Amino acid sequence: MNALPATAMSLGLAGCEVCGLVSRPLAGTAPHCPRCGEALHFRRPASIERCWALVIAALILYLPANLLPVLTTYTPLGSQSDTIMQGVVELWSPTSWPLAIVVFVASITIPLGKLIALAYLLITVQRGSLTSTRQRVRLYRMVKFIGRWSMLDVFVDTFVVALVQLKPLMWMAPGPGVMFFAAVVVVTMVAVNCFDPRLIWDLPQKECNA
Ligand SMILES: [Zn+2]
Repeated sequence: MNALPATAMSLGLAGCEVCGLVSRPLAGTAPHCPRCGEALHFRRPASIERCWALVIAALILYLPANLLPVLTTYTPLGSQSDTIMQGVVELWSPTSWPLAIVVFVASITIPLGKLIALAYLLITVQRGSLTSTRQRVRLYRMVKFIGRWSMLDVFVDTFVVALVQLKPLMWMAPGPGVMFFAAVVVVTMVAVNCFDPRLIWDLPQKECNA
């Protein structure tokens, strides 16, 4: 390669995250966007530290989300509380196995997969890894895209509750696990937004310029 790509930061330019205007902040000042007044940063401040804190918080919340009951079923014979995994096992039948797979993938695999992916991105950025930058950007985009569908399980939960409420002498109530599950989803989405994907390219760029 005989031409290296220049980054906006290396040219002293910063893009506004609100209106998208690119401007050249003056050194030694706290720069603001000349068009909308938003604070300008070359990179999101403390991106790695904030993202790590949120990933660890989400991992801690992931435990009660899976260990506490998400659904309690009441019948005249008594009540039964189920965790997400117990719910998947109970749903596993010749008629409702597709729903069991949706709940398993949406509630257990995807939230954990997103946290592992974020931890991998953070570790590689901190180590200054030069390899597979394109794949890592793709991974970041995928994690961000999946975020929009993360509440799928809460919808499935609500759907199941609504179906059961129609049956006579049987009713359901959400358990404390649902609150922790929603917290995992929200904290992970904030963590994804804290991560600055430009950091993936920064270190290779520095190495190339050295
Ligand atoms: Zn602006």
